[in-house]
Amino acid sequence: MKGLELLTVATYNTSFVVCPTLIYDEKDFILIDCGYPGTYDELKKALNQFNTSVKDLTYLIITHHDIDHIGNMHAIVEENPNIRILASYIEEPYLTGCELPIKLSSIDYKKNLDEVVESLPSPKQEIVKEALLHLSVPKVTAIHDNELLPFCGGIKVIFTPGHTPGHICLYLERYKTLVSGDELNVVDGKLMGPKPEYTQDIKKAIESLSKFKKYDIECVHCFHGGIYKDQPKSRIVQISTSDVV
Ligand SMILES: [Zn+2]
Repeated sequence: MKGLELLTVATYNTSFVVCPTLIYDEKDFILIDCGYPGTYDELKKALNQFNTSVKDLTYLIITHHDIDHIGNMHAIVEENPNIRILASYIEEPYLTGCELPIKLSSIDYKKNLDEVVESLPSPKQEIVKEALLHLSVPKVTAIHDNELLPFCGGIKVIFTPGHTPGHICLYLERYKTLVSGDELNVVDGKLMGPKPEYTQDIKKAIESLSKFKKYDIECVHCFHGGIYKDQPKSRIVQISTSDVV
């Protein structure tokens, strides 16, 4: 038994989904990123589609601490206290509540988020507000650049700073698949670089694309936009050498 799946988890707007990755074998069920705060039921539904539940998960790997990637982390740990959470040592303080998530300290971002929350039907509003109060977890295991996690055929940690200071991508060796977090996105079927408007240091994020050179990538899982398979390596070179992000 082994497999790799891309989940689609509904967000506050029904036409917009985010895409955590699920990788599993006889020993482990690993979720990579976990969706917006207050979308726990939606995440559970997405796992159920692959006959998996939160209780089956052995690891949750977080690519970076933006709230769409960590929003259900607290609820997951409540239901499954044995799960281990892995993230880069640079992102760790944001996940354990020692540091406020970077984007939440921006007034404009907060205002935008408040507006989205206020527009939701009132029962959902309460769920989201409650989840936003619980974004952290007590324990995160720090991982490092180039570390090979010995799970599910080997998961290589690739530090790709820029979108956030400790953003990582993960290369799934068994599947020749790159899980890109927000370093790459699929927009209208096309593979694109990090979105400048949401990226803390766009120059650094573009430089980070060169870290993929040494990997044999046949497929990319993008948290925003889904799966991309059309010669991803040459497309990544194109993105990293063009001015158009
Ligand atoms: Zn994101």
